[in-house]
Amino acid sequence: MGKGAEAIGELTPEEKAQFAEWLHSVWKGPKECPICHVESWNQGDHFVYAPIYYQGAFVAGSVAYPSVILICDNCGYTLFFNAVIMDLLVPGPEKTGAGNGS
Ligand SMILES: [Zn+2]
Repeated sequence: MGKGAEAIGELTPEEKAQFAEWLHSVWKGPKECPICHVESWNQGDHFVYAPIYYQGAFVAGSVAYPSVILICDNCGYTLFFNAVIMDLLVPGPEKTGAGNGS
C-alpha cells in the first residue's frame, strides 16, 4: 500500500536491489537449488503473504507474514523471506480481536 495504482504489490527496482543486497549478506551456504541443483534464481515481482491458518481456513483480516520470494528458474521451487526482517516493510498495525475490527 502507499504505492501507485499501476504497481500494487510490486517491488520497486530499489526494493528489489535491497532484497538482493540483503540476500547476499545472509546467504552463507551453497546457492544451488536444493531440489534440482541448478543455480538460477529469480526474484518474484510482488510482495506476498502467508495468512494465519485456523480450523480449516485462513483467518481473514488477521495479521500475516509479508514476504518476498525467490523462485528457481528451472524447477519452480520457491523460497519465502520475511520482508519485515530485511527492513523492506515496516510491521503492520497489531490487530486485537477476531471480529470485524473497529
Ligand atoms: Zn530448482
